[in-house]
Amino acid sequence: MNKLLNSLGHLIFPNLCVCCDAYLTFQEEAICDLCYFRLPRFENYLNPENSLAKKFWGRLQVEYASAYLQFNSHSDVRKILHEIKYKGNRNLGIEMGKALGKAMLKIPQLNSADSIIPIPLHPKREIERGYNQSNLIAQGMSEVMGKHVYADSIVRKKYNSTQTSKKRYERFINSNEIFQVVKPQMLQNKHVILIDDVITTGATIEACGNILLGVEGLKLSVVSLAAAIS
Ligand SMILES: [Zn+2]
Repeated sequence: MNKLLNSLGHLIFPNLCVCCDAYLTFQEEAICDLCYFRLPRFENYLNPENSLAKKFWGRLQVEYASAYLQFNSHSDVRKILHEIKYKGNRNLGIEMGKALGKAMLKIPQLNSADSIIPIPLHPKREIERGYNQSNLIAQGMSEVMGKHVYADSIVRKKYNSTQTSKKRYERFINSNEIFQVVKPQMLQNKHVILIDDVITTGATIEACGNILLGVEGLKLSVVSLAAAIS
């Protein structure tokens, strides 16, 4: 019955592809198959010395760093990230998290990690938005990779109101003033994968990652849905 209602709903209110506005079939979720296959994959993501890993050399001690999609300000990847972050498209966040997880399963170093930690939002920001987009991606990834998501093991203490000031703001402030590990005993001697929706400068990951590395015996990997090639 539910399936029938769902099908009727599809006929009355057809879902459109977030990238090209084409009508979606019953099997397609948020993105049509054609747009999905055309999404630019992050180059050399299976190579330990990919450009994202190199971005952190000398800045952050990581076991492995990788991304699924290549971020480019004019591509469909930008539309997808925008839908997840600002348009409340939670289902797309989870679905893209699953796709990311499937890709990351091919990397033995990530496959053997213990748990997943989404980059936290400041609680005030999370209430405004209603969710943390990195947590949606982490949930999808967790379903595919079979790893625990420890979303409340680290908190964001500083609230910055504008996106434009963010990079400067985080560059000049001490990481300790932005992030705090609240359950260090849960993370001791664990290999954790830190998740973000998109990595551009890497400043936020660097700040959060360095705080996590303060936990005894913790090993850190970094994964994002999309990343800019530097
Ligand atoms: Zn499409």
